[in-house]
Amino acid sequence: MFEVVIGLEVHTQLNTKTKLFCSCPTSFNHKQNTNTCPTCLALPGALPVLNKEVLHKSIMLGTAIDATINKTSYFDRKSYFYPDSPSAYQITQLYTPVVEHGTLKIDFEDGTHKIIRINRAHIEADAGKNIHEGDISKVDLNRAGTPLLEIVSEPDLSNGEEVVLYLKKLHSIIRYLDIGDANMQEGSFRVDVNVSIRPKGDKKLYTRVEIKNINSFKFIQKAIELEVARQSEAWEDGVYETEILQETRLFDQTKQETRSMRGKEEAADYRYFPEPDLLKVSITEEMLKIYSSIPELPDEKMARFVKEYGMNDYSASVVTSSVEMAHFFEGMMACGISPKNALTWLTTELQGRLKGEMNISNSPVDALKLGHLVKRIEDGTISGKAAKEVLDKLMEENLDVDTVIDALGLKQMSDTGAIEAICDAVIAANPEKVQQYKSGKDKLFGFFVGQVMKESKGSANPQSVNELLKAKLG
Ligand code: ADP
Ligand code: ZN
Ligand code: MG
Repeated sequence: MFEVVIGLEVHTQLNTKTKLFCSCPTSFNHKQNTNTCPTCLALPGALPVLNKEVLHKSIMLGTAIDATINKTSYFDRKSYFYPDSPSAYQITQLYTPVVEHGTLKIDFEDGTHKIIRINRAHIEADAGKNIHEGDISKVDLNRAGTPLLEIVSEPDLSNGEEVVLYLKKLHSIIRYLDIGDANMQEGSFRVDVNVSIRPKGDKKLYTRVEIKNINSFKFIQKAIELEVARQSEAWEDGVYETEILQETRLFDQTKQETRSMRGKEEAADYRYFPEPDLLKVSITEEMLKIYSSIPELPDEKMARFVKEYGMNDYSASVVTSSVEMAHFFEGMMACGISPKNALTWLTTELQGRLKGEMNISNSPVDALKLGHLVKRIEDGTISGKAAKEVLDKLMEENLDVDTVIDALGLKQMSDTGAIEAICDAVIAANPEKVQQYKSGKDKLFGFFVGQVMKESKGSANPQSVNELLKAKLG
């Protein structure tokens, strides 16, 4: 039997204001070829200057994965021609990247975990975009020279499930650090999957096939499945040596196959050499101190929620599943409400109402408003049922919680005097039922509660009603 060996290369775009080596803006929604300058157009004589923000964000990532930050790192030139790369080379870091030897922990559902080693994370420049329209191809260089961080794992992953866990974790760390938006569909988080197989127990690494740029977790799993099947069949048919070549393959989602795109080049083919236009990158102790300070990461946040709020692991993992969720939840907690209520109102009530284009980041009801609403349930101002009505209204209109409660007349009657008067009236109106209740027909209690709630038009605080009736009926 075979075991599967997988290593991942992730290219993540860093969300800096300007490009890697020039001061052109990194925003893409501009007219084609307007965010360009002599440097990113590779005009003769223009020289690159490293953007410090890129270094900062790379070191943040390095810190988050417990990696070594190299005090000195270098840029190298990787030569190849492609129409969307005007310089005919890419500036990258081959020999000494800024970040090396990190780790990422992935957690399985059964509570066990696995440590995946990360070989390196290096800085490199992105290319532009080729746009094909019918017979015509155009080049847009707005993206040329935007900063990428390429994060390369060791071949420590053994199946599609582990790959997805690794990618989700890495994605989440990038979002928590706010160093990139890591949007897979939009191409700011691109994954190359390297796959090989070997007889179980064999320590040797066999020929790897690289599958490029697959843009969803589902497709990544599918591509791995197909590629593993192709390689094991070749092995079983005795044609592994001739059929499985080190190459780059493309995943075709319609045909459900991987197919050869090009032979895999070796490093030597790219004529790598130290980039002569850039100085070495030196990181001082002072810079390192500033750049390596990072916000709380998903695992730490989860552990803290468990400890501080007494949540179980599952609930804590739900509210830390994305940085937006975590911030929203913490925003609600700032209103001094119970974690349990915050969780329900966030995940069931609010998320249940976020439809279409709406999501937690652009929700019409923000964390403080939702927290405030929950507070009004907890302090007895409104019932849970009424709160749902208030929330419906708040989803439609930007109003204040208390204003809506007043406008909809949903305030609970908490004045015990008023509730008591209703209780007395209900008891006086139903002497027979009172008699039956007193002689043991316990079920009738619900009848009395119902009557009082009805008389108060649902506004009586149910807990007060219960207490008062119990006292009165004995
Ligand atoms: P390249 O840019 O040429 O693809 P990298 O060193 O950037 O080379 O990436 C190689 C990737 O392939 C790494 O993630 C590594 O873990 C993985 N890898 C190397 N050998 C194997 C193998 N035999 N099977 C699966 N993955 C492998
Ligand atoms: Zn530029
Ligand atoms: Mg590769």
